[in-house]
Amino acid sequence: MSRFWSEATRHLVPYVPGEQPRQTGLIKLNTNENPYGPSPRALAAIQAANGDNLRLYPDPASDALRDAIASLHGVTREHVFVGNGSDEVLAHAFNALLRHDLPVLFPDVTYSFYPVYCDLYDISYQQVPLDEQFAIRLTDYHRPNGGIVFANPNAPTGIALEPEAIVQLLQANPDSVVLVDEAYADFGTRSSIELVTRFPQLLVVRTLSKSHGLAGLRVGYAVGDPALIEGLTRVKDSFNSYPLGRLAQAGAQAALEDHDWFLETRNRIIHSREELSLRLREMGFEVLPSSTNFIFVRHPAIAGERLAALLRENNILVRHFRRPERISDFNRITIGTEIQCDTLVEVLSRLPEIRQ
Ligand SMILES: *Cc1c(COP(=O)(O)O)cnc(C)c1O
Repeated sequence: MSRFWSEATRHLVPYVPGEQPRQTGLIKLNTNENPYGPSPRALAAIQAANGDNLRLYPDPASDALRDAIASLHGVTREHVFVGNGSDEVLAHAFNALLRHDLPVLFPDVTYSFYPVYCDLYDISYQQVPLDEQFAIRLTDYHRPNGGIVFANPNAPTGIALEPEAIVQLLQANPDSVVLVDEAYADFGTRSSIELVTRFPQLLVVRTLSKSHGLAGLRVGYAVGDPALIEGLTRVKDSFNSYPLGRLAQAGAQAALEDHDWFLETRNRIIHSREELSLRLREMGFEVLPSSTNFIFVRHPAIAGERLAALLRENNILVRHFRRPERISDFNRITIGTEIQCDTLVEVLSRLPEIRQ
């Protein structure tokens, strides 16, 4: 606290990201990074861009990257907005499209950055409880609102929604923005991007951090009706004209164009996820059905916080959320390499609480 802080700054409660330890040799399964890393073609493109041209500002509109994204999803450049990680894209969306009188609706258990953006931009919000199976019930969102936000698949539960439910929500909610955060959709969920040309209120947000192994490059994007994109661009151009540097634009474009690398690494992660889920269920874990690159698990014999601490003693980092209470016995475990999954199972099977 400092007397130099503004009133607004004094009241901020910032988002707390998962730990990025300095210690090496840890098995890091706490922030949903991709264990296989970026496409070699992305690395080559970054290296090629890493030269004297760095003295020049990058393309403020990221046109080449936006064209690559548009072609990937069968839309035009005018349907695409890019930002410095999808966190920045989300922040601009809350500011540009969700800042109205009525409250924004989002699940009570979801990405915990959403309430932080609301507080930052002074947006009122209501948290809608998940159902008993920890799933989003979209019919609960059929009420007056200043916008609707949810992650599909949801985080940290990993559970995905059927596209039909999303279509119904959009039909019932024509007058405010519906933001679908697809940070994990590449791991086996049908994308809502195919709906953006039918529904002008739909904005779909994506990231290269998870499915393309580029968390360190900071690139995210949104796809939606050109009028929504124009609103985002107005906010961006009132904030930072150059959110993506030359290296990020070049690397992201090459990563999205290397479809073979994406498919191969993505399929490997899905395969490991299914195998790990099976093995943990055999050990007595409840494993929510995941469509992501992580699983959300609890064991009846051990508290969530204690399990995270025991794994940490064994050099394995996972993510535990104290709040809300409802999920405090779960841990979110990122899908690592096959060897990392084996080590995790081995460590778990040696814990006295779990060993039968
Ligand atoms: C990881 C994550 C993001 C942020 O991704 P970045 O592009 O790295 O900022 C957004 N939403 C959800 C649900 C996430 O899990």
